[in-house]
Amino acid sequence: MTTAEIIAIGSELLTPFKTDTNSLWLTEKLNDIGIEVMLKTIVGDDGGRLEETVRDAFKRSDIVITTGGLGPTSDDITREFTAKAIGRALVYHDEIETLLRERFRGWGREMPEINKRQAYVIDGAEVLPNPHGSAVGMLFEDSGKMLVVLPGPPRENQPMFEHHVLPRLKATASEVYSARRVLKVSGMGESAVDEIAAPIYSRYSDIATSILFNKSEVEIHLAARSETAEAAAIRAAELADELAAALGKAVFSTDGESMEMVVGRLLTERGETVSTAESCTGGLVARRLTEVPGSSRYFVEGAVTYANEAKIRTLGVPAEVIGTHGAVSAECAEAMAAGMRERARTDHAVSITGVAGPDGGSEEKPVGTVFIGYSGPAGTRSIGLKLPGDRYLIRWRTSQAALDYLRRQMIK
Ligand code: AMP
Ligand code: MG
Repeated sequence: MTTAEIIAIGSELLTPFKTDTNSLWLTEKLNDIGIEVMLKTIVGDDGGRLEETVRDAFKRSDIVITTGGLGPTSDDITREFTAKAIGRALVYHDEIETLLRERFRGWGREMPEINKRQAYVIDGAEVLPNPHGSAVGMLFEDSGKMLVVLPGPPRENQPMFEHHVLPRLKATASEVYSARRVLKVSGMGESAVDEIAAPIYSRYSDIATSILFNKSEVEIHLAARSETAEAAAIRAAELADELAAALGKAVFSTDGESMEMVVGRLLTERGETVSTAESCTGGLVARRLTEVPGSSRYFVEGAVTYANEAKIRTLGVPAEVIGTHGAVSAECAEAMAAGMRERARTDHAVSITGVAGPDGGSEEKPVGTVFIGYSGPAGTRSIGLKLPGDRYLIRWRTSQAALDYLRRQMIK
């Protein structure tokens, strides 16, 4: 098995203000062709640490990929210290300087002298052109090992990796292909999912399975490996199908689709429309539904009716319903959904009313008490939930529950 490791370079990546996404993207690309990433490191702009890290990495891994630190300023130290780490000199490439000067002239500017630093390349390394920026990449091979040095910005390093590194790796990598599937489950906890899923996935020892909880849903990640891409995909599909059958309706997606995409697909397939009436989620359900391209085919109207008067005026909720049961009640949720459906003349309407907190809870209706209403061709109904979390999570989970409630009405 070919092993790779990734080194993300840049002091900002150690802070909360900038996240290293390069290593995640690269890991996926490498895994796709059967190369395993065993380690990744983030190194600040410190020459000594960088040199040490690259030296160690080059000893233990077949492929070492660095990103970042190739800019023209003095904090961009990657060229110098990766060269040192592998005991090579830097050599000046006139043609890179010429190219840079032309590039700058094309932008109507003279090349600043400091950009000359970007014309230095590790002795013996191949130059990887960068049509999207000034920093060229480098690829150095020695006794079956490979060091790849890429610029930091994803829009520069991604095309560079895909065009100049990936084909090379594909040619040398062992013939292993992987296929991934992500199942998403709503309305069940992590352990309840695992209780059903574990006896099934433990029979597939060739597939790496992981279960994780993500804000409002449980995800089951499957990674199958095989000699061909088709065989890997078939194997992953076998397990995905078996899990989906065992978990039933709770599985809303078997290929990583979001809840709003799934709901949108169901509505499109049925040629039906939806409207929303929201209180404590403030339009989050409408926003999520309309984030999906093509949602104009099925999304008609959404109302944010926060105040009692708005529920009465806009949705026609009878004042007595609110007076008798309160705005946060099954009765109010149903009246909201029915009123919205009538107003927007849609096939389906969903409504939400609840207490997102941190204030406004009572003994009878504590923070997290939420009612979701639905009105459709088969009638009007509602569910009550008690959701855990802070204001942000309660609002998010409520939006997810409402979309899921709508989904379940359509797949009955
Ligand atoms: P650098 O090559 O270090 O000058 O980085 C240039 C820019 O690339 C940075 O300002 C970031 O926006 C981006 N960048 C660098 N490293 C990463 C990384 N590991 N993940 C995501 N973006 C990065
Ligand atoms: Mg940097």
